[in-house]
Amino acid sequence: MPPEPESVRPVTRDYHVKPVLPWTILRLLRRCDRTREEIREKLSAMYLGHWPVNDQLLDAVLEGLVREGNVRQNSTFNITGDGLRALEQEEQRIGEHLERGLSKDACAKYSLLGNVGLSLLEFAVGFLSGSIGLIADAIHTAIDIIASALTWIGIRVGREAEAALAGGVILCGIGLFIAWESIGKILAPAPIRFGLIALVTIGINILVNAFFSYYKFYVGGRTRSISLVADAYHTKTDIWSSVAVLVGIAGSLAGFIALDGIAGAAVSFFIILGGYELVKESHQVMAGKDPEMEKFSAFLESHLAALPDRALLVSLWLLKVEPGTWEETKTSLKRTIGRRYPVSLTDKDYTRIIDRIHEDHLAEEKDGQLILTRDGSETLSRLAGRQAAYIPFGGRGFLSPRLIAWYSEGL
Ligand SMILES: [Zn+2]
Repeated sequence: MPPEPESVRPVTRDYHVKPVLPWTILRLLRRCDRTREEIREKLSAMYLGHWPVNDQLLDAVLEGLVREGNVRQNSTFNITGDGLRALEQEEQRIGEHLERGLSKDACAKYSLLGNVGLSLLEFAVGFLSGSIGLIADAIHTAIDIIASALTWIGIRVGREAEAALAGGVILCGIGLFIAWESIGKILAPAPIRFGLIALVTIGINILVNAFFSYYKFYVGGRTRSISLVADAYHTKTDIWSSVAVLVGIAGSLAGFIALDGIAGAAVSFFIILGGYELVKESHQVMAGKDPEMEKFSAFLESHLAALPDRALLVSLWLLKVEPGTWEETKTSLKRTIGRRYPVSLTDKDYTRIIDRIHEDHLAEEKDGQLILTRDGSETLSRLAGRQAAYIPFGGRGFLSPRLIAWYSEGL
């Protein structure tokens, strides 16, 4: 065997594997009956040899599956009716979990409600504490609510360009007003009252916005919603505005009381920037362009750019564990990467993935079954060592049992 690259050297620990092992074994047995030795070999292949299969753990899990009536033990292990049903239920549960909250309307609604809550909280704590940064951020959030309410209700349809232009001008006006107030605060700074509450409030704001930005990107990508993705980009810039407020309050508490006013000025800058963007977009719309569509295309492209390698990794992994036909591999891909990729995939995407295996001779056909070539195995090891760019906090990349558990959903 060729030596594995340095990057996939870390060894997967037993306690990480243990929770997913029963399901993995059931999935292996769903395909066909297998001896203990065959199961052991498959598990070793799944972890590309980086989990030294623990025989004691394997026997304990097998024994448990037999005891629960999910697996029968003869000369081989075979899955029972109960086992099949349990596996079906688990897969349904996973499917429901992935579909939950994946509605465009629900996402837009929750985001709107979230912003209303944040804005009220910020106004209240802003006036209580006297932080101009918080008040400015509350005004910003309130403006966003009006903007997304307009989008949600659909008023912008038809007169979008004029509405954007008017909104942009108003935004710039409000931004200038807050800038003026903030300059006053910089020249005559006053300490913040209830500083800790103010700090917690802005912290909550940042966390909630980070969550909604991620959520809107995800739902927007999965449902290919142009307006949600555009909104997600906006929420992402809102986070920076709130971070400025956080720094202002923290600085003010540390004794640099003018920092709160400077933060207010920073927020006003973000508001004016947003206003300028709207004015610019209204011009683009008038010129017959679609700025939201352009943002969406950029988003789609960035994700689809990462797709070939990720999808290739999953398909090579599937073929290493369980050789199958072209058609079976495609179905497996839909059950793995198709269910979890941040943008929904089309049939053309799958065909392109499969074609690449063919073109690069990564697998060859024997009696209709695809078997990895030497190049295929090497490519798999190389890709496995890379970090999945689209999985936040993925850390250990491919070798994490969590990832292997969902790759094995395709078996
Ligand atoms: Zn905003």
